[in-house]
Amino acid sequence: MKFNTKTIHGGQKPDAAYGSVMPPIYQTSTYAQSTPGGHKGYEYSRTHNPTRTALENAFASLENGKYGLAFSSGLAAIDAILKLLKPGDEVVSTNDLYGGTYRLFTKIYEDFGIKFHFTGMENAKRIEDNINENTKLIWVETPTNPMLNIIDIVSVAKIAKRYEVLLAVDNTFATPYLQQPLELGADIVMHSATKYLGGHSDLVMGALIVKDKDLAARLYFIQNACGAVCGPQDAFLALRGIKTLHIRMQRHCENGHAVAEYLAQHPKIENVYWPGFQNHPNHDIAKSQMKAYGGMVSFTTKGNNYEEAIKIVENLKIFTLAESLGGVESLAGHPASMTHASIPKEEREKIGVVDSLIRLSVGIEDEADLIADLKQAID
Ligand code: PLP
Repeated sequence: MKFNTKTIHGGQKPDAAYGSVMPPIYQTSTYAQSTPGGHKGYEYSRTHNPTRTALENAFASLENGKYGLAFSSGLAAIDAILKLLKPGDEVVSTNDLYGGTYRLFTKIYEDFGIKFHFTGMENAKRIEDNINENTKLIWVETPTNPMLNIIDIVSVAKIAKRYEVLLAVDNTFATPYLQQPLELGADIVMHSATKYLGGHSDLVMGALIVKDKDLAARLYFIQNACGAVCGPQDAFLALRGIKTLHIRMQRHCENGHAVAEYLAQHPKIENVYWPGFQNHPNHDIAKSQMKAYGGMVSFTTKGNNYEEAIKIVENLKIFTLAESLGGVESLAGHPASMTHASIPKEEREKIGVVDSLIRLSVGIEDEADLIADLKQAID
């Protein structure tokens, strides 16, 4: 099955009871048993729920994995991966990553005795320099949030195999429409399904997808034992969102391209970060591992003035100033004071998250309206 068919049919079949084409919302916590243990595959909805199963199968299908798991948020999904580790274990992570992931690593898991090394992964040597006998996991986010750097998943996967450590890739920004990390050698794909997979800014959800049976069993155990599952109503909304992922992504990419080109020629703009530009430092890798370049665009203004950046985001009328990304509507954010405020100023400035950086999640509205909105806000 090709990707555009999978978004609609992947992992799904009409419901067994009445042939319902959309999986019904099984709004139940428990299931009748004829005798103790005599049930129809479902006992309790923390463990399993038929609407969630349909979604988990769809996740697995989209990423060319075998097993999908749905969580109550993207961070809950990352938390489940970290629970594979033990005190004394070490993790090598991308240094440019979602602030909440950084906060989970450093403010929660460091206290449980796990050590994190943050490094730029554009150079594979830097990864190897941080690996030792305690390393159990490599954490990659690509494209990175908010600098839109691209990490070569195939090269990192080779290192992970050589040192026998797990490779997890946060595929939130790319989505499986643009890039499929399991096919490139990753062991675990993670999503904040809150973003492009859901696609309509109406739910909070996380996803994990793997191919390996034993790894899947360990993650299912953690999912059930810790309980950060999504409810059936949200599973239904995500399933509905996924059905248009391919056409939404196509438009996000087209509009992202148009907005990036517009910003690049604006006299008040200093830098535009978008992996589709030929002069983007990792453009060749993006070209080889992604189908197109996505709808996320970040930029800075000349003079790097904090107040000016705040004024621009306040002046936008079609772009909504808000946290999050990946919905049909365009959003703008100021990472230094919003999504990345949990990263200390010196740390975030080292990776380019300066005071004037603005991050756009370019939606699927009319391109001309989006450009006119940016023009009036910047001018
Ligand atoms: N990963 C990335 C790249 C994100 O942008 C986010 C949220 O913005 C997360 C993970 C966390 O996901 P959630 O907000 O669904 O917990």
